[in-house]
Parts: sequence; structure tokens; C-alpha cells
Amino acid sequence: MNKNTPITVAYGDGIGPEIMEATIKIITAAGAKLDIETIEIGEQVYLRGNSAGIEPEAWDSLKRTKVFLKAPITTPQGGGYKSLNVTARKILGLYANIRPCISYHPYVSTKHPVMDIVIVRENEEDLYAGIEHRQTQQVYQCLKLISRPGSEKIVRYAFEYALANNRKKVTCFVKDNIMKLTDGLFHKVFDEIAAEYPEIKNETWIVDIGAAKMANTPEDFDVIVMENLYGDILSDVAAMITGSVGLAGSSNIGENFAMFEAIHGSAPRRAGQNLANPSGLLLGAVMMLNHLGQNEVAAKVHNAWLKTLEDGIHTYDIFKENISKEKVGTKEFSDAVIERLGKKPSTLKIIEYKKTVKKEARKSEKKKMLKERKDLVGVDVFLDWSNGSADDLGEMLKKIRSESLILKMISNRGSKVWPNGYKETFCSDHWRCRFVPSHENESVKNSDIVELLSIINDAGFDFIKTEHLYNFDGKPGYSLDLG
Ligand code: NAD
Repeated sequence: MNKNTPITVAYGDGIGPEIMEATIKIITAAGAKLDIETIEIGEQVYLRGNSAGIEPEAWDSLKRTKVFLKAPITTPQGGGYKSLNVTARKILGLYANIRPCISYHPYVSTKHPVMDIVIVRENEEDLYAGIEHRQTQQVYQCLKLISRPGSEKIVRYAFEYALANNRKKVTCFVKDNIMKLTDGLFHKVFDEIAAEYPEIKNETWIVDIGAAKMANTPEDFDVIVMENLYGDILSDVAAMITGSVGLAGSSNIGENFAMFEAIHGSAPRRAGQNLANPSGLLLGAVMMLNHLGQNEVAAKVHNAWLKTLEDGIHTYDIFKENISKEKVGTKEFSDAVIERLGKKPSTLKIIEYKKTVKKEARKSEKKKMLKERKDLVGVDVFLDWSNGSADDLGEMLKKIRSESLILKMISNRGSKVWPNGYKETFCSDHWRCRFVPSHENESVKNSDIVELLSIINDAGFDFIKTEHLYNFDGKPGYSLDLG
């Protein structure tokens, strides 16, 4: 007899405890071989003064089991609380978030009868790095960080997922017409890695029109790989248009850990009323059973769940008078799934999960990337200033001359306002002042920047940050200006 596998379970907040109870009841009845360690996370932990929403002993359990089945939690309103979801994904290195969004026509009402999309969302970088600053009275910033290794890992994961799951196409959504460096890198990495998988079609869409197309003709998409924020937003859209956000499960996969959950939140208004649809978390648990190699149990649960949908036994969120047969609560829905264990759907596609032998991902055939030459060619000095117009500031800064650097340009919120700006351009109190070598092609040293800052400071300006301007193999590693 196979041994039980230890897993860590958190019942979460809001509807969490009800949907977790239903999920555990179903998978246990189906024969899942699990040793469950329960941890407390979420609202009560936050309100006890733990700003991370998780106690140290809970991490010990996660480190031991390496597999986490997690119900949604409520992050209390107000500042000072760190998102436990983001923390868990980062600390456990869960770089890939997989969110299948499938419609169940004609049993669940949907505008999109043919929809079977898997969103592969990057889970650790982007604006979710959570590096935010308030710099002036008027301006706040959030840093968007995209790394080459992070992009390579997620894009390769998407193609390996497509291969392993018999998917035919991987689409990339980016906004590199605007964010040329960050999204430009993601797009470039996508093209490089796509070339190593010629048997899988690939395409790229600008995220805005891609999202519109996905919401209108989802049947045109298969696997879609995206950066963190686009993936977060668009997987909710994709799940919702299948019929309900309550229908989609999700896995978060890393090298050593894995976390499984529903894509929706804790829906506090529905809590404690035996109303919530447990399907999202149940499908997350099905993904977990596959991850643990308990494929037969996973298929048994998945098919019984499909049969329950086919039989018209629906929770309130998917109940439709002329489609559904019986409106049920969370408990009755889980009992209906348990009654159908061993049965298969008659119209919806029967699920078969095979034991997958963990294969090494296809290795890049490319030679190791050569390190590019990095030259410091200038500096953007950001000022908090509100004593006049762009021309006034330009005139004042023109007089500031260090040994080697002079003012070239001033921009405000990304638009050039000096020299030759438009007086109509709105200016906040956050100015970017670009300094470049006084003699063309002269190299810049960090000490030149220190000297410049000292002069700027002595002149009474409030400098709030600097960004160094680098060329990589002669190509600018910074954005040029609009205007
Ligand atoms: P939500 O996803 O919790 O709920 C939005 C609405 O969707 C609900 O009011 C409900 O009508 C419906 N819904 C969601 N899940 C359902 C289900 N299983 N069955 C039936 N209907 C369902 O989003 P929200 O209201 O914006 O967020 C509530 C809380 O959840 C917030 O504190 C948020 O931070 C948290 N949240 C947690 C997670 C997570 O733990 N992974 C994810 C998202 C949001």
C-alpha cells in the first residue's frame, strides 16, 4: 500500500473554511492518500499584530511538507499588512502560476461555449516586487522589475506545459510598444525560447487588444503566458467569462515547493451561509493530486465533479433557471460530487490523467549569453521642486556645472519640458533632470555623479533619487523621452 503524503492545509477566511471542508471531504472520499497538517493564516493572525499574516511555526510545516493547499484569505483593510499570497509565492520561489479557465457548455451558462485557456502567469516579479516610494507631495512610484532569468523561467515553463499537456499554441501578451525595455525583454525572451519549440505555434499580442480578443473570442487562444499583473487581472476575466470566478483552480509551482488554491478571494459577504461554490479550490486540489502522482484519484474527483455539473446540481453562482436542475449549498454540492465518485460525464470530455515522468526541461541550445559591456553615460537626477515653470528650472540648472556633467534635458512625468517644451504640458512637483558629459563621448564615473549631487545640494535643491544611465554594448539601457 502506498504511503500517505504529508501536505499543509490552511482553511483561510470568509468562505475559505466552508470550501476547504468540502474539498477535503471529497478528495478523502475519493481515496487521496494524504497526511494533513493544518496551519492558521490570514485575518486573525494579522489582527493579532503579525503583519505577515503567518506565524513562524506555519513556515516550519511548509518547509517540511513542501506542498500547500490554501483557502483564500482576507487581508484586513488599511496599511501595514503584507500580502501573504505574495509573500508565500516569493519566499517559496513559486515562479509559475497556472490558471486553467474552461467553459462547461451547455451545463454552465456562458457566452463562450468553446473556451479552454490556460493562463501561465509569472509570479515573482513585475510591479508585484512591491517596491513603492512616495517621493514628493504629489508623486508616488512603484518599480516594475523584469529580469532575464525570471522571464526565461516562466516562458520555458509555458512551452514545457504546452508540450506535456498536448497544447498546440503559446501566446505572449506584452505592452512593449510603451514599456520598451521591461516588456521588450519579456517579448525578446519569448521569441528566443519559442524558436526552441518549433512543434508549438507561437504568437504575441499587445496586451490591451489581446485581452479584448480573449474576452471576445477565447476559442482563438490555448496557453497564454504573461507578466504578473496582466496575468492576475486577465485570469480573473478568463475565469469569469467561463461562467463564474468560483470555477477556476490554480497551482503555484517552484523548484522545491508548490501551492494550490482557487483563483478567487475569500468573498466575505458570502461567508458562513453554506452558499459558496467549492469548485475552484476542488480543481486546485485536483492539480495538487496530479502533482503528488495520485493521478487516478485526481481523475476520479474531476470526472465526478463534471458529472455533478452535467446533472444540473449547481451552487447559486452558476444556477440558471432553465439550465440547472437543483440549487444547492456548499455542503450539498460536495455530497453530490461524493455520490458520483466513480462515474464519468456523458457529454463533457472525460478526464484521464496519466502518471507523468518528470522530464528535464528542454535545455537551451544557445551558447551562454555573453556579458555585455556596460558604460555609464549620464545620470537622471530627480528633484522635488515647485517654485516655478520648467523654463525657470532649466535656467537655474543650466548654471550648475560640475567638472564633467551638464544639463541636457528636463522631463516631467515622462514628457520633455525643457528645452523647447510646450507650456501646455502639465507639470507636477517631480522633475527628472538628465545630465550628460560636457564633452561628447567622454566617459562618466560614479565620482562625477557624487560631485554633481553635492553641487545640486549646495544650490539648495531637494534631490530625491538618481537613476544612472548605462549603455550596454553601445545601446541605451534607459528610455528616451516623449516630446
Ligand atoms: P472575491 O474573489 O473574494 O469575491 C468577489 C465576488 O465573487 C464575491 O462577492 C462573490 O459574489 C463571487 N465569488 C467569489 N468566489 C466565489 C465562490 N467560490 N462561490 C461563489 N461566488 C464566489 O474578491 P473580493 O471581494 O475582491 O476580495 C475579498 C477578499 O479576498 C479581499 O480581502 C481580498 O484581499 C481577498 N483575496 C484573497 C485571495 C487569495 O487568498 N488567494 C485572492 C483574491 C482576493
